[in-house]
Amino acid sequence: MITVEQARETIVSRITPLPAEKLALDQALGRYLAEDIVSGMDIPPWDNSAMDGYAVRIQDVPREGVRLDVSYEIPAGSLPQGPLGEGRAVKIMTGAPVPPGADAVVKREDTEEYGDSVVIRTLPRKHDNIRLAGEDIRTGDLILEEGALLEAPEIGVLASLRRRMVFCRQRPVVAIIATGDEVADLDEELTEGKIPSSNSSSLISRVRQLGAIPLYLGIAKDTVEDLRDKFARASRADLILTSGGVSMGDYDVVRDVMTEGGNSMEFWKVRVKPGRPLAFGVINGIPAIGLPGNPVSTMLSFDLFARPAILKFMGARTLTLPKVRARLTEGIRGSSDRPQYVRGILKRCGDELCVSPTGPQGSGILSSMARGNCYMIVPQGSKILEKGEYAECEIFRSSW
Ligand code: AMP
Ligand code: MG
Repeated sequence: MITVEQARETIVSRITPLPAEKLALDQALGRYLAEDIVSGMDIPPWDNSAMDGYAVRIQDVPREGVRLDVSYEIPAGSLPQGPLGEGRAVKIMTGAPVPPGADAVVKREDTEEYGDSVVIRTLPRKHDNIRLAGEDIRTGDLILEEGALLEAPEIGVLASLRRRMVFCRQRPVVAIIATGDEVADLDEELTEGKIPSSNSSSLISRVRQLGAIPLYLGIAKDTVEDLRDKFARASRADLILTSGGVSMGDYDVVRDVMTEGGNSMEFWKVRVKPGRPLAFGVINGIPAIGLPGNPVSTMLSFDLFARPAILKFMGARTLTLPKVRARLTEGIRGSSDRPQYVRGILKRCGDELCVSPTGPQGSGILSSMARGNCYMIVPQGSKILEKGEYAECEIFRSSW
């Protein structure tokens, strides 16, 4: 049986990033850059004041208590009326350009103002309270690299570079098909023996969270015909995800369809707990991941295998979940034949991170995901990780 890493590498190697599209900057949040951003300008573009105060020459202020005549004032948004004359000061506001000749700004709190003169109460040093041209970004600097995720700071930097349009990778359309005669969508009647299709909702949400476009195709009955019919409706998808119907049961037909006709299947089992049944192949020319049906296994398998595929389509550089090491507040049990992903709650304990299991860990206990924020990994063969030992944790929430 292949490992998590082997399965992930196989899946990711079959995915090609989508083409770029040109987006208005205000549409680019959550997208990945498809170009390097090199600055065409200095930021700030000119020396400007970091304080409200007085622009001076330091040689005119050799000691505290010097009185200087004030030539004029520069509000933010205005230009200096001329160079700073010798033995004089210019009143200046935060963000206004420093007048030629000035080499420091004395903040207002360090002065006494007398109308058209000012007494300087400190000894200014060169460049005090001056934001120098190019101190943030220089012309020619590589500011953001292809593959960078555009969040608020990046969007802000792009705005300061006056980039109104930006090239980003397109978003993949991810078809989602639930399977199972026993599962029902929220708008269907829940007759006896049926359960809600929680996987439909959690998968749609995960896809959306990544910034991809979910195409929900409903629930396929446990027949080859119905599943084929659903796959036929996924023709505009970049990736197909199914949930359930992928293990050893008589009615588990996902693998049957994945191996018929021109379709192909590369593997259908991964050494991981929970979630061993996991099929990967190509259906009607589209990469397809058959996720297991148990709700926790569905989400874990999504995070381990579908998430990297979607992020690769989107042009991201990092495809795996963020990892940290944390100290166990209680012992956790593993499995001899597979690495086990235990849902945990990661938090700060004094100077370090610690992690506690969420409680019962059955693969159907979806509330264990809702309570948790990470997977604690018990390596294969370790029967137990003791309280006080460190566990590798993969964080599955964007904030925690
Ligand atoms: P399967 O692999 O199809 O046998 O599914 C494994 C378990 O997951 C069964 O208990 C199913 O009822 C459950 N399951 C399958 N699909 C879903 C779904 N969409 N939502 C919630 N549970 C599901
Ligand atoms: Mg089923």
